[in-house]
Amino acid sequence: MVVILKNNASETQIEDVKKHLEDYGFQIHESRGEVKTIIGAIGVKPGFDIRKIKILDGVSDVYRVTVPFKMASRNFKEGNTVIKIGNIEIGTDEIVLMAGPCAVESEDQIFRLAKVVAESGSKILRGGAFKPRSSPYSFQGMGEEGLKIMRAAADEYGLLVVTEVMQIHQIELIEKYTDIFQLGARNMQNFGLLKEIGNTSTPVMLKRGLAATIEEWLMSAEYILANGNSEVMLCERGIRTFETYTRNTFDLSAIPVIHEKSHLPVVADPSHATGYRTHVAPMARAAVAAGADSLMIEIHDKPEEAMSDGPQALLPKDYLTLVQELKVIAKAIGRNL
Ligand code: PEP
Ligand code: MN
Repeated sequence: MVVILKNNASETQIEDVKKHLEDYGFQIHESRGEVKTIIGAIGVKPGFDIRKIKILDGVSDVYRVTVPFKMASRNFKEGNTVIKIGNIEIGTDEIVLMAGPCAVESEDQIFRLAKVVAESGSKILRGGAFKPRSSPYSFQGMGEEGLKIMRAAADEYGLLVVTEVMQIHQIELIEKYTDIFQLGARNMQNFGLLKEIGNTSTPVMLKRGLAATIEEWLMSAEYILANGNSEVMLCERGIRTFETYTRNTFDLSAIPVIHEKSHLPVVADPSHATGYRTHVAPMARAAVAAGADSLMIEIHDKPEEAMSDGPQALLPKDYLTLVQELKVIAKAIGRNL
């Protein structure tokens, strides 16, 4: 249930409404916008008469939220969630770029690529140190050593770090090195991991599951939010369909749908969505046009030697060109990049 307070509701009235909600046994979440205060009440019993709340002083409107996700719902919060990390903000008119290799492979490699990321004006360095590989015989990532060198490369070039956490026991270690946790597609419904990530205060990028509906994806975000971490962004990375000419099918329409249903920022990952470098730039351009708040793109300067996902990595020169094109598209829709 969502309770919208009148614009001129006094502090005493707001407190009184909260007290009533608590007395009725609701768990409450308050969101104060510039003009409006909205109180989300979780735990509404089917027969509860919402007029009991509607008649309280200071209340403008009350309605039931019919979608199963509550805290992730746009009804629950006025305005967009903006995730602030240092001097970077994700979820504003400024589109934030994340780029880097699929996997951290060596100190030399991550420093070379961090330099490209910084030169392009992108703000966040991506790279996996723990890799979710389809085969147990494939390169599994450099582990802590990879985290250390990625942190050092990011610090050297003034970048933030986003890296994947695959298991609960890695949270503490990875938190020491990263600015953003990446929760991978394969773990989107690892509810134990989602809950534990919800107990941290580190921002999270939750990737869409391989065959997850938008509602299932938002329910996974809800796990993190309900456990207390409100810094969640959602990453569209393509879904599995019958199509075989691309690695996955990029669900571009998920971007406006999420913006309609949720206040959380949306990141687009055209690299995993398409799987081939020739398709990455067109889909990146489309993602900006569709309203993505951020893009995550894999780059490599020696893709033929890459230990994972070489075929979808953009060469540095192509990434630099793409960023210039994205700036033009962003401007055309009233955003900056
Ligand atoms: C990745 O970003 O390197 C990755 C493994 O992505 P996904 O979880 O979307 O497959
Ligand atoms: Mn990858």
